[in-house]
Formats: sequence, C-alpha cells, structure tokens
Amino acid sequence: NKQLIFRDYVTGFPQESDMYVTTGTVKLKVSEDSNGVLLKNLYLSCDPYMRILMKKQEGVGGFSSYTPGSPLTGFGVSKVLDSRNPEFKEGDLVWGITGWEEYSLITNPQVLFKILHTDVPLSYYTGILGMPGLTAYAGFYEVSSPKKGENVFISAASGAVGQLVGQFAKPMGCYVVGSAGSKDKVDLLKNKLGFDEAFNYKEEHDLDAALKRCFPEGIDIYFENVGGKMLDAVLLNMRPHGRIAVCGMISQYNLDQPEGVHNLMSIIYKRVRLEGFGAPDYFPQHPKFLDIVLPYIREGKIKYIEDIVEGLEKGPGAFIGLFKGQNVGKQVVVVARE
Ligand code: NDP
Repeated sequence: NKQLIFRDYVTGFPQESDMYVTTGTVKLKVSEDSNGVLLKNLYLSCDPYMRILMKKQEGVGGFSSYTPGSPLTGFGVSKVLDSRNPEFKEGDLVWGITGWEEYSLITNPQVLFKILHTDVPLSYYTGILGMPGLTAYAGFYEVSSPKKGENVFISAASGAVGQLVGQFAKPMGCYVVGSAGSKDKVDLLKNKLGFDEAFNYKEEHDLDAALKRCFPEGIDIYFENVGGKMLDAVLLNMRPHGRIAVCGMISQYNLDQPEGVHNLMSIIYKRVRLEGFGAPDYFPQHPKFLDIVLPYIREGKIKYIEDIVEGLEKGPGAFIGLFKGQNVGKQVVVVARE
C-alpha cells in the first residue's frame, strides 16, 4: 500500500520534503465487528485547508492536525472494496475523507458519500461536484445574499472555488471581476470563464487603485479567498450594505502570525456584513446542490477547469503548488483510474 506520509509539523512555506512516499500495509478485509469500509483511492483533492492541518495546534476549525508519521488525509474519490457499513457496499463509488494512499481502511466513515451519478468524470467529485463546488454554491447563494445585477469581486478567481462562483454570479446579471496571479489565468477568466473583467494582483502595485478601476461604483459582494492585503483594499471599496463571504485566506496559511487588517472601520461606515462559513455545514444540502449543478454540466452551461497530475509521488509538488499559484483550476492527484 503506497502511502504519502506527513513527516512533521510545518512552519513557514511547505516543502516537498515535509511529505514522503513509502510502502505500508493495509488489512484487505474490514473486521466483522466494525462499521468500517475498505477503499481503493482513485482521485485525491489538493485543498488549501490541508496546510492548516500541518500546523501543530489543537482542533483547528473543527479538524485535528495531521499526525507526524501517518498518511495525509483529505477529500478524494474512491471505490469500496469491502464494507461492514450498512450505507456502503462493495463496488460503490464514494467521495469524502480518505487517506493519501492506495488503499484506506476507514473505521468510522463520517464524511463519506455515495456517488449516484457516474455519467460525468469521477474526478469532478473532488471539485465542482464535491466539497469545493458546494463551497462556491453555499458561499455565493446563501452567505452573499446576491441580488440581480450586483457588483461581485472574487479573489483566487481561477481556482477550484473561484471559477465556479463567477459562473454562478453571471446568470444573475451580476458584473463579475476576478483577481488571479498570472496573465494566463487572467486571460482564462475573461475569455473562457465569462468574467467581465480580471486583473493580475501580482502586477498591481496598488490594489486599491486596481479595484477602483474595475469598480468605479464599488463592490456589493466580495467572495474572499485570499485575505491579507487584498481584504484590506477591498474594505475601502465596498458599497453600503455590501457582503463579504469569507471562504478562505490562503495568503495567511503559511504565516506564523496573521497579517494585520487595517481598514476594518469600513465595516461600520459602509454597513458591511462580513461572514465566515464552512463547507461541512452544507453537506446535508449536497443532493439539492447536485440537482442544480449536474444539469449545468450535462448541458455545457458551466465550464470547469482541472489541473491533473498522475501518481501519488506527484502529490507533494501538486499540493505545494497551491501556494505558488502553480495550479490552473482544481488541483487533482490521480492514484488510480478505476
Ligand atoms: P485554488 O484552486 O484557488 O488554489 C489556490 C490558489 O490560491 C492558487 O492557485 C493561487 O492562485 C492562490 N494563492 C496562493 N497563495 C496566494 C497568496 N499568498 N495570495 C493570493 N493568492 C494566493 O484553491 P481553492 O479554490 O480550493 O480554495 C480557495 C480558497 O477557498 C482557499 O482560501 C481555501 O482555503 C478556501 N476554501 C474554504 C472552504 C470553506 O469551507 N470555507 C472550502 C474550500 C476552500 P493565484 O495564481 O491566483 O495566486
């Protein structure tokens, strides 16, 4: 059983050497008296929150830190090889929390969902049809309280979550702008993903000016993925009664101390609602979410970009790449295709 092991707690920018591949053993039968499932892992999802679990701290955001010397865990798509759990049977395809390894014995599957629709690529359940898709959906429709024609700004806009938020906002007649970290990503946003405007935040020495250029009348909804300086600049550009849906703050995950945010008074001046949210709160709504998004995919009404690497050995590079902006679209690691 090839496994990707978490070496030790990480401070600063993660390195490939913080993880290593080894061959361990796995019991190929689930014991009779358990509630467990044995999974063959197919696709693994590189998600920014995994970096937070690499820190030595207790109960971060409801999750526990990784255990040094054990395989990483995260969202993935897997096939059930054996089950003592009434909800799953041999041959089922599932998405949810699994190990970064070829085979995982999950003794108490709490975040594992059966895949019922297989006419779409299975890897989509790491992204548009899985946790990031639900995040984009809930963060936009529920947390942001969007209204027709509003001005929407999305950071890390070409990534797994961002690309979908923009495409949810456009059919509501919203004016949608995204920021991303390269010229190619900006082109992608404008020419393929249907954003009205986009800019490369790495080339803007004054983010406030960039936002004023794109939003002369201000921002109604900010879908926050990065935090730090971008949040500070956005706060100066919110419209009265604007909403900031705080999804993530990836620019802070490698820092020992989060950066200070200076413009928080704007929340009062502009009567802004700033609200954090977490995808797991919306897992019960996943079936309803699929009813909406699956037809979009089947009818080609939504575009979805994945960045796929082959093999567990590529896992560390792919994961670290999230923090360098290396991924274009949803970063997926293929362990096996069936
Ligand atoms: P992405 O696919 O967008 O990948 C991460 C991207 O973030 C990179 O490609 C890079 O793009 C950008 N980035 C990396 N470092 C920085 C930095 N220092 N400053 C600005 N941008 C940076 O990831 P996801 O779509 O999966 O996640 C996006 C955000 O949503 C993250 O903050 C994540 O933690 C959060 N999230 C929250 C969830 C929740 O339940 N609340 C669930 C899922 C995700 P670029 O080239 O543009 O810099």
